[in-house]
Amino acid sequence: IMKAEVKEPNVGNLVYAPESLVDYGRENATLLMLVRNKELRTALQAIETVESQFNHKFQYPYVFLNDKEFTDKFKSTITEKVSGQVFFETIDKVTWDRPDWIDSAKESERIKVMRKYNVGYADKLSYHNMCRYYSRGFYNHPRLQQFKYYWRFEPGTHYHTSIDYDVFKFMSANDKTYGFVISLYDTERSIETLWPETLKFIEQNPQFVNKNAAWDWLTEKKQNPQKTRIANGYSTCHFWSNFEIGDMDFFRSEAYTKWVNHLDATGGFYYERWGDAPVHSIGATLFQDKSKVHWFRDIGYYHAPYYQCPNSPQSDGKCEVGKFSFPNLSDQNCLINWIEMVADNELSMY
Ligand code: GDP
Ligand code: MN
Repeated sequence: IMKAEVKEPNVGNLVYAPESLVDYGRENATLLMLVRNKELRTALQAIETVESQFNHKFQYPYVFLNDKEFTDKFKSTITEKVSGQVFFETIDKVTWDRPDWIDSAKESERIKVMRKYNVGYADKLSYHNMCRYYSRGFYNHPRLQQFKYYWRFEPGTHYHTSIDYDVFKFMSANDKTYGFVISLYDTERSIETLWPETLKFIEQNPQFVNKNAAWDWLTEKKQNPQKTRIANGYSTCHFWSNFEIGDMDFFRSEAYTKWVNHLDATGGFYYERWGDAPVHSIGATLFQDKSKVHWFRDIGYYHAPYYQCPNSPQSDGKCEVGKFSFPNLSDQNCLINWIEMVADNELSMY
């Protein structure tokens, strides 16, 4: 898999950058970054690589979201760097903040336990808010209502390959609703009740489960015989969500909406430290046909400490082919599960 040269998905319907963008019919899509004012410098780095590898060829708009007002400096500096239209938006407090009904005694108790098990960001309230917002909020932001597809990107990330086709048109033409590059195991202590609560929900709402859900992948019967990382039945293998290209209409669907409302009502975003990545991953593979999910094996990507470095002729040469992380954390890589359990039937597409 790593040795074969990859340039782009192996489909006949890719749309390449047009000579002139004047009449280009874009998909209804945006580049999306949730970001703080103090991350301006690293946000610019990410924008630079997204622009140079992809967006100057297509000029999709950008949406920047923040729970605080963006400063004038942030807005003017970014506006200078992007080729597409740009929106700076604030998130309303009711959607972002921890709800009042969270039991603070229980929360502190649970945080203590998570710290004992080294759950990252367990005691950082803003991180819990962020994960909850990316799990169940962003796609209903008033500004995002007008868009269908989003490409999430983050400050400090790097794109290593030239992307010459329109990724949003790829999603649309090939009936994909969720795309990822890296997939990892999670800290089981951060999501102890996520899977049991999900099972409770689908017991009450069995009609939402897709008949081609990725059960084997979610529960990892074969790959993980020691089951060291299993979180009460869920393998913890998830798509790393700091890069994702998704169809917000999926997240806005009745199934996903009711499920995340159920999850939210348990308080698990605060009593545990549920990441938006496992939430998106479970939702995308349980409530839809697994063929809706696409691994962008052609996109070279870095978010510390993990890489995807495909053997691509369009690579910038700064990414070592096949490299996964620095330092070596290969035991956290679970991409092989997806390839072996799910992608097999559509490998021809890669
Ligand atoms: P990590 O990758 O899991 O270590 O988390 P990050 O710190 O990268 O946060 C994920 C994304 O959410 C990034 O785009 C951050 O800029 C953004 N983010 C995290 N916390 C906050 C916050 O409190 N406010 C805002 N506006 N953005 C945040
Ligand atoms: Mn990050």
